[in-house]
Amino acid sequence: MRRLRPVSAAPWSLAIGSVIALPACSGDAAAPAPDPVAACVRCPYPVVDPAVEGAVSDLLGRMTLAEKVDQMHGSSIASVGGLYYTPDNARLGIPPFKMSDGPRGVRVETATTFPVGSARGATWDLQLEERVGEVMGRELRARGGNVLLAPTINLLLHPAWGRAQETYGEDGVHMAALGTAFVRGAQRYALASVKHFAVNNIEDTRLGLDVTIDLESLHDTYLRHFQRVIQDARAATVMCAYNSVNGHFACENDYLLRDVLKGAWAFDGLVMSDWVFATHSTAPAVNAGLDVEMPQGVHLGDDLIAAVGDGSVTEAIIDDAVTRILRKKVEFGLDALEPVPVSVVESKEHTDVAYQVALESGVLLKNEGGVLPFAPGARVAVVGPMAAVSNLGDHGSSNAVPSWSVSPLQGLRDRLGPERVTAITGPTLTAGDEAAIAAADVAVVVAGLDWEDEGEDVLVVGGDRDTLELDAEQVNLIRAVRAQNPHTVVVLEGGSAITGTWIDEVPALMMAWYPGQEGGHAIADLLSGAVGPSGKLAVTFPHDAGELPPFDHASVALTYDRWQGYRYVDHVGGTPRYPFGYGLAYTSFELSRARLERSTFTAGGSVNASVTVRNTGARDGVEVVQIYASAPSSRYQRPVRWLVGFARVPVPAGKSVVARVTLFADDFAAYDTQLGRDVVEAVPYTLSIGTSSRELPLTATVSGT
Ligand code: BGC
Repeated sequence: MRRLRPVSAAPWSLAIGSVIALPACSGDAAAPAPDPVAACVRCPYPVVDPAVEGAVSDLLGRMTLAEKVDQMHGSSIASVGGLYYTPDNARLGIPPFKMSDGPRGVRVETATTFPVGSARGATWDLQLEERVGEVMGRELRARGGNVLLAPTINLLLHPAWGRAQETYGEDGVHMAALGTAFVRGAQRYALASVKHFAVNNIEDTRLGLDVTIDLESLHDTYLRHFQRVIQDARAATVMCAYNSVNGHFACENDYLLRDVLKGAWAFDGLVMSDWVFATHSTAPAVNAGLDVEMPQGVHLGDDLIAAVGDGSVTEAIIDDAVTRILRKKVEFGLDALEPVPVSVVESKEHTDVAYQVALESGVLLKNEGGVLPFAPGARVAVVGPMAAVSNLGDHGSSNAVPSWSVSPLQGLRDRLGPERVTAITGPTLTAGDEAAIAAADVAVVVAGLDWEDEGEDVLVVGGDRDTLELDAEQVNLIRAVRAQNPHTVVVLEGGSAITGTWIDEVPALMMAWYPGQEGGHAIADLLSGAVGPSGKLAVTFPHDAGELPPFDHASVALTYDRWQGYRYVDHVGGTPRYPFGYGLAYTSFELSRARLERSTFTAGGSVNASVTVRNTGARDGVEVVQIYASAPSSRYQRPVRWLVGFARVPVPAGKSVVARVTLFADDFAAYDTQLGRDVVEAVPYTLSIGTSSRELPLTATVSGT
């Protein structure tokens, strides 16, 4: 086989926001050379490499039917040390795929364990997410793997979804930007698998649910961001989902796999099934476009050979599937990958990235009376059972395991010094605890959810949440602490929105998500003000679940429409507690001078916008400039407004910085059922520019032509 380097490498540009090239991982012989394809923004797709195609057709021509089918399924239901294999072919020198999960870290032995996807969504930092992907890809290689089963890019239908933590948030443009960044980084080292295609947004019923959805809603809400990640990052593989869509299982869904993914989007990689229960048949699945059954060949093994024998699957279909598999094996040079030393796993270089993500993902939701940051020398009471625990996320397939991790309590002790920290970690307060809390300058309660409350459905734990409220015991604890100390800060952990009237009663609230192995240090640095918070919600925090659409995680037949997240709240005229895009800092910003380089764009084109951001406070800070579009004269059903671009801009105290955002025509598209494709209408679009979906002081107009 021909040795080829991975397709995506530095230097690169980003789909949205300013462009700063990060260095590739240091001192690594396996770090690939720059590739001009990766320097594009909306990339040409697919890119046909005649050398790869030649090598593939040569191999294919020498394979027997049995050898071809052998490539189309996993080797065993059991992983080997955390890696799921597909068969190799010693005769022809075809290497196996070796797969591991990875939305928050590689699942082979120990690994750098990052904040979860929803936390990373709150960074709005594309360069950093690219680095996360790169680190995961590199650690996967160090552990012997070559396919990373990440990222999860299912749009958040509702914050009660058990796997909300795995995904970046509730907006497709934001999701596409983060997902593209991750895949570009990861594919410097390994194939990435974007998952789960498609409409996989409920956990408890995932194996049996059939979603009925009209094509406009399907494309506008649930599919377009998959297209962006697949095409812009050239994602090598797509994992089809457990559930079914419009009456057909996702892994035997002709419309999703053949018409859309491999047809309209021209996807040139391979489709693999989700694990064990996602493949239901032989001929229907393969004919619909499933290329690889994982983790073993129940349907795509001997039964597939028989199906070719009886004519229900043609050899041309088999050849197409195997061509896709071999194409990616050749393209990524899987036969001759440079070894990556195991010493990179949890190296300081890598865990520093986890720390940086935790810092940037903390969202300051409330800060009355300047409770935060702590005053110099402040004595802090750290309260709650969760304070002493490193809470990394669910125990499903994304459960990466670090060899060490830092709890919030440990982080505060390390950063402030143990003498300034009093730990009170029981579920209720004793009289002595109350006195200690009252005597402290600040009380920090760590509360929220853990792997027993939400996550991928693993036997009896995890799954979807029945309520967005915090449990009564923790609410009582927060109230009891607040009764002793007016300077009470709540640090919330969890995968998505948490609600409760207790929020009205505390002066300060920070969302820390599941903050990864370095989370405790990051929380301490944010609370103490060593670093200012800069995270912004990528999920709406409602006052209560009644502000969101109902979330039915029991029925196995549901009809979806296009409304979820802030689009739903805007559509019904609601006022959430904390809107999409919201997050406070320890400084303040003022936006002015919104400019467009042109007042029009053409379909397939783009237009550059710039906005001046002034830091009007006394501390350096970071603002995320957000641009939303409305199309009042559209002939399609449109959200009140939707995100079309953003830029994360560091601004020194008292200074101004010009944020630059490229707006892509594709992100103004609506799906037209009659034409069977996306349309960018030639109508005026109002652009609303600001710092959250509800704080939009500037406007501009751009027109499609
Ligand atoms: C999950 C996938 C995961 C796979 C392999 C499935 O249960 O849905 O996301 O990649 O297991 O661990």
